[in-house]
Amino acid sequence: MKASQFLFATLKETPNDADIASSQLMVRAGLIRKIASGLYIWLPMGLKVLKQVERVVREEMENIGAQELLMPMTQPSELWQTSGRFTDYGPELLRFVDRHERSFVLGPTHEEVITNLAKGELRSYKQLPVTFFQIQSKFRDEIRPRFGVMRAREFTMKDAYSFHIDQASLAETYQDMYDAYTRIFTRLGFDFRAVQADSGSIGGFASHEFHVLADSGEDDIVFSNVSDYAANIELAEAISTGERQAPTMTRQDIDTVEMPTCEAVADYLDLPLTKTVKTLIVNGETAEGEPQLVALILRGDHTLNEIKAEKLAEVAAPLTLASDADLKAAGLHKGYIGVDLDMPVLVDRAAAELSDFVAGANTVNKHSIGVNWERDAHITRIVDIRNVQEGDASPDGQGTLQIKRGIEVGHIFQLGDKYSQALGCSVSGEEGKPVTLMMGCYGIGVSRIIAAAIEQNHDANGILWPTTPDVKDSLAPFEVAIVPMKSKEETVMQTATALYDALKARGVNVLLDDRNERPGVKFADLELIGVPHRVIVSDRNLAEDKYEHVNRRTGEKQLLSHDELLAALG
Ligand code: ATP
Ligand code: MG
Ligand code: MG
Ligand code: MG
Repeated sequence: MKASQFLFATLKETPNDADIASSQLMVRAGLIRKIASGLYIWLPMGLKVLKQVERVVREEMENIGAQELLMPMTQPSELWQTSGRFTDYGPELLRFVDRHERSFVLGPTHEEVITNLAKGELRSYKQLPVTFFQIQSKFRDEIRPRFGVMRAREFTMKDAYSFHIDQASLAETYQDMYDAYTRIFTRLGFDFRAVQADSGSIGGFASHEFHVLADSGEDDIVFSNVSDYAANIELAEAISTGERQAPTMTRQDIDTVEMPTCEAVADYLDLPLTKTVKTLIVNGETAEGEPQLVALILRGDHTLNEIKAEKLAEVAAPLTLASDADLKAAGLHKGYIGVDLDMPVLVDRAAAELSDFVAGANTVNKHSIGVNWERDAHITRIVDIRNVQEGDASPDGQGTLQIKRGIEVGHIFQLGDKYSQALGCSVSGEEGKPVTLMMGCYGIGVSRIIAAAIEQNHDANGILWPTTPDVKDSLAPFEVAIVPMKSKEETVMQTATALYDALKARGVNVLLDDRNERPGVKFADLELIGVPHRVIVSDRNLAEDKYEHVNRRTGEKQLLSHDELLAALG
C-alpha cells in the first residue's frame, strides 16, 4: 500500500469525548470515527485490523469443524416472544415495527434464529453434533455506551451455536471451543485468563469467560497464583462462602428475609451518608434477569460524581429514596447497593475523596464499594464483596488469590435445552423417538478485542500492537513502513520503491510512506498507528548501502544492509 493513496486520518489532539487510552488512540490513529453514542465508522486503517481479528477467529472456528453462515441482524419478534426473551431481555433489545406494523428486533444475539433454523433443517441424530458460526454486527442498546468500541451499541461479534443429542456431546464441543478460544487469544498475543463465570439461572451447566487483563477492565477477576483456579469475582464469592453448594433456606425463609434499605447498607458499610458520599445507587435485576435501576440518592452537593449523576438522572428519574417497600415493589431478585465509582475517569478523584473510609480496607474493587445481594433459593443474604482479598488462600486449596481487572473478550456457555425446548427443536433419536437437542453458545467480541489489545499495549507515542507468536497474525494495520527521506536525488525514491516491491513480493504487509509530509510528521503518525518496523531510506545511508531500521516497541535503531533487512523483515 502506498500512503499517498490511503486515508491517513490521524489527529494530533485527543478528542474530548474519548474516555480511555484505547478509545483516544483509535480515534487519533484514524482507525475509527464516532457518529453517535456507541456507533462507529471503521475507517480503512481500522478495518484492516478488524479483518485480521476476523481471520484468526475464522481459522480457529473452521479448525474445530464449525460451519460459517450469516443470519440477518433484523429478526422477527415472534421468535423472541416464543423464547420468552421479548420481555425478559430488557431495554438492551431494540424493538421496532415496519410499515406493515409487523414487529421486529435488532439482534443482540441469535439463539432464537439459529434454533429455529436447526428445527427446520436437522432431522436425525446422524447429523449431530453440528456447530454453526457467523461474524456479524450485533445491536445492544447499552445503557451507558462508553470506552469507544469496547462498549458500543453496534459491534462485531463472532457467535457460534452447537447442537447435540445429549449433554456428553455438548461437553465435548464445549471443550473444543474452550481450546479454540485459548488458541485465538494466544495467537493474538494477549495476556489473558479463562475464568469460571456465573451460569446464572441455568445453574449446573458450565460457563467460562475469557478476560484480557487490563486496569481499565470492567470486571474483577480472581485467580490463583499457582493452580488453574480462576473465576469472575461474583462467583468466587459465592463459592468461597459456600452458597453455591449449600442451599439451606426454604421459600418461607426467603419471604421473611429483610430486604436491605439504603440506610441499612450505608450503616452496614460504615458509610456516613454525609457530604463525603454524595451518590448512593441501588440497582438490580428482576427474577427474569432484567436490569433495573431502582433509586439514586444524592446528598449534599454533587461534585463527587456529578457527571455520572447527570447521566444516571436521565434513566433514573424521578429520583427517589429506596425503601424496603420500594425494593419489594420493584420485584428485585438480586442486586447491588453501594457507592458506584465505575467511571474510571472519576476513580482516582473519587478514591481520593473517599479515602477517609476506604482506609479501613473497605474495598477490593477500585470502582465500587458496596454489597451484592441475591434473593433466591440459594442466596438470601447480603454477600459482602469486601471479603475476597489479594493473598487469601483459594477455594481449591492451592496457592493464594490474586485479583485483577479484566476485559471480557469471549464467553462460552452450555445452554442445555432452554431454547430448543421453547422453540420445539428436536430430531429423531437412535430409537426413532424425537429428542430435544442440547445446545451451546459461544461469543467473541471481535471489535472489542482491538480496544483490549490497545489497552494492554500502548505508550506515550501511541499504539503498540501485541507481539504475536506468528507475525502473520499481527494486528498492526501495516507491519513495515518504508520512509524515503526527501531528497533531490531520485535514487532515494527509486530505492525505497524497489525495497517496497521486494517486501511485497515476499508477502510482507508493507507501507510505502510516499506522502508529501515532513519526516517528523510521518514518524509521529507511524508511531501513533503502531507500525512495528520502520525503515528509513536516506541519501547518507544509501552511500554505504545501509538502511535505518527502527523497532517501534523498543525504540532500538540499527543500520542494516539490503540483504540483512530482507532477512529480518521478509
Ligand atoms: P458485558 O458483560 O461486557 O456486557 P456480555 O456478557 O453482555 O458483555 P456476551 O453476551 O457474553 O456479552 O457477548 C459475547 C461477547 O461480545 C462478550 O464477551 C464481549 O466481548 C462482546 N460484547 C458484548 N457487549 C458488547 C458491546 N456493547 N460492545 C462491544 N462488544 C461487546
Ligand atoms: Mg452486556
Ligand atoms: Mg458479561
Ligand atoms: Mg458474557
